[in-house]
Amino acid sequence: MTKKVLVLPGDGIGPEIIAEAVKVLNVVNQRFDLGIELSEGLLGGAAVDATGLPLPESTLEAAKQADAILLGAVGGPKWDKVETAKRPERGLLGIRSGLKLFANLRPAILYPQLAHASTLKPEVVSGLDILIVRELTGGIYFGQPRGIRTLENGEKEGFNTYVYSESEIRRIAHVAFSLARQRSSRVCSIDKSNVLEVTVLWRDVMEEVAKEYPDVELSHMYVDNAAMQLVRAPKQFDVLVTGNMFGDILSDEAAMLTGSIGMLPSASLDINNKGMYEPCHGSAPDIAGQGIANPLATILSAAMMLRYTFNEGSAADAIEKAVSDVLDQNLRTADIWSEGMQKVGTQA
Ligand code: ATP
Ligand code: MG
Repeated sequence: MTKKVLVLPGDGIGPEIIAEAVKVLNVVNQRFDLGIELSEGLLGGAAVDATGLPLPESTLEAAKQADAILLGAVGGPKWDKVETAKRPERGLLGIRSGLKLFANLRPAILYPQLAHASTLKPEVVSGLDILIVRELTGGIYFGQPRGIRTLENGEKEGFNTYVYSESEIRRIAHVAFSLARQRSSRVCSIDKSNVLEVTVLWRDVMEEVAKEYPDVELSHMYVDNAAMQLVRAPKQFDVLVTGNMFGDILSDEAAMLTGSIGMLPSASLDINNKGMYEPCHGSAPDIAGQGIANPLATILSAAMMLRYTFNEGSAADAIEKAVSDVLDQNLRTADIWSEGMQKVGTQA
């Protein structure tokens, strides 16, 4: 069966890093006989320039038809002054909500070759391999009502609503528990149930879903403690599952443990494991066009695509092994370069 992949290079370093990931995909496609068919589309600033919209109807339609999407990055100073509806980032949000990509997966893996680049001591992070599962389409970022209103006394008041339904919590719980089964079978659910009722429900539903996964161990932690534990003893975690806002913050924190943002892939999945895969970093306009961007986060995102959407674990393993081999050969882009290493770029 053909596997349809829509490639969206986007802006800034997007086209440079995507070109490298596409080369890798073409190689594994042949070697593992995957039947991948690539097509390309416009998203973000590139789409604004060409069509006037950050997410043209044709791109959304192609994304819906595809089995998976590989995205570079969107945005940059060129579009900073355009009206809100035309912001490149709007294209990204549009695709996430249009495809109902509710589960955001962010692995934080420390490559032993880069241990020195972590913000933590080597003994605290060596062998680090955790997976943050963040709910992406609900919670306080989307809750209604929201806004800024003027009170009777003339003072302004800003307000947002933190809301999760049982079904929203249940479906992200299932994602976390089934992923944990493929790993060390431990899930830590992060909430603030000592203060926020919505997360009391979150904790209850996690417990309820856990009964369907008796082989997976569930623990709970308050988000403030989790933020502390992530830098104190991150290896205690296997899978962390949490809501949109806590996940946003904790996954950036976890990213720093691994050294460079140029190494971190991500996946955003729908209920059928269809997904969009992209590096965690942005479009890095400061280095765009110079051929010095690190393509590994994008290449590792392609590996996640093979693993999670297409269930092609061996092909994904092969890509991850190739990344490790490249590091073993002391080849480094500027962001992860250190004394004694050979500096390389994407233009080679
Ligand atoms: P966004 O707002 O889109 O999240 P940002 O503007 O906050 O992104 P990035 O675009 O990720 O941040 O860039 C942050 C810094 O990291 C920049 O200095 C950029 O050059 C660097 N950087 C990001 N991605 C890479 C990469 N793949 N290789 C090398 N450096 C990178
Ligand atoms: Mg940016």
